[in-house]
Amino acid sequence: MQRPLGPSSPTFPELSAPESEVCEDRSDFVRWALEQLHIDFSEVHGIGHVRLPARDRSAFGGQAEIWLPLDKLEAQQLLEPLDWEGRFSRWLRNRLCAGESAMHVCPGEQPTAVKDLSDRLLHAYHVERGKVHLGGCRLTDFPFLRLSFAANENGRPTLRHLFVAHDGSSVSSSLVADLCLDKLQRIEKRPPRIDATTLGMLTAAGRHTAAKATTQRDPEAAVVEPFLISVVWIKHASGQLQFTIGESTTALPFSGWAKLLQAQPFVAEKSGASTFHLAATDDGCVDAFDEIVTCEQSGRHVLRQDLVCCSVTGKWVLAEFTESCPVSGQAALDTKFGVCTVCQQRVSQVVLEANICGACRGLGRTNKDDPRLMWILGEHPGLHRWKTWRLAETQYVYIAEASRRLKRLLIVVDKETLAVRHLATTSRLIAGWIPVAPAAQNELLH
Ligand SMILES: [Zn+2]
Repeated sequence: MQRPLGPSSPTFPELSAPESEVCEDRSDFVRWALEQLHIDFSEVHGIGHVRLPARDRSAFGGQAEIWLPLDKLEAQQLLEPLDWEGRFSRWLRNRLCAGESAMHVCPGEQPTAVKDLSDRLLHAYHVERGKVHLGGCRLTDFPFLRLSFAANENGRPTLRHLFVAHDGSSVSSSLVADLCLDKLQRIEKRPPRIDATTLGMLTAAGRHTAAKATTQRDPEAAVVEPFLISVVWIKHASGQLQFTIGESTTALPFSGWAKLLQAQPFVAEKSGASTFHLAATDDGCVDAFDEIVTCEQSGRHVLRQDLVCCSVTGKWVLAEFTESCPVSGQAALDTKFGVCTVCQQRVSQVVLEANICGACRGLGRTNKDDPRLMWILGEHPGLHRWKTWRLAETQYVYIAEASRRLKRLLIVVDKETLAVRHLATTSRLIAGWIPVAPAAQNELLH
């Protein structure tokens, strides 16, 4: 039941309107309402003159025109009182609601068609050798609720507006401003439909918010009934942008309040880069323009992350054109490899000097306490006949050199299996190493 407004009665607690940052002077509300209803209205020196349509005259005892004390608070004879419970306010509310329990309104400034959004979204992107278009966009009306409570601000009658979002949550003052909820216009024809259950749920949520806002200030206060309930229809947009470059396409979904929708950066799946500038690799991967570079070996346009630096030439090239050098551990173009004349390993040119790799040049003196040498001798016991050893290792092999009087022996073994990869001998009378044929190796190794 609606409680009377006005001075508090001893049988009721004082009625209060909830606090709100969105307030509207009663006179401004009346001006707005008459304009929305297209009722002939003019104003001189704070007195409003209303020429009533024939259908509305019965509400005012048959009068064809009435005068409203808009900026004059003191009642004067012949002026129609604007009290919230007076016949003028009741008539105004009924006309605004058009026979329903709530008025239907929408923000004056919000996109109402897909084309209103498409320019804003599409122009944000630059697609190299391709295009962007809307791959589907749906605009849906979501019902917010505005509860308008009669109040007094510094002695002036006002309406305090309290907003509830479509899910029953309260609406922050920044969202009120962003969505232009303080600049509404009445929907005259065929507003979206809201079922009674939803309207009831939103109204209950609004009353709950109002009660909380009121009792926080004054625990004894009871909340006044709202003077007017308005359903505020807010456009929500969802869809996706489609980027097409050659045969490749990729999509970027979007969703949000249509008024606030801003183009979001495309986040590339492979590089993870965020961008508004898209391009495609030669094999059709759509990514950030800045992440696509040229392979200096093939000239192909590829992702930066797929290139490696050749340790010999310094060129950035696709990994498929490179090998890992077992001595340096670095990648190099496979055309920049050579074979070490000592250990017979394929190594990058950067570690070769006079056709001898860095590992073979850097053999270090060792003895049979070196666990690496112990493993090699354990696997190949014939090598125990050699006393003096030097050793080096690369990524995959051990290189060991033994010397005994005039003779020298070189053995290259796999680090994991200790299998012999290369075996050679020489003497002081011979230049270079002479490989030992597999058939003759047993004699040296056992
Ligand atoms: Zn070598």
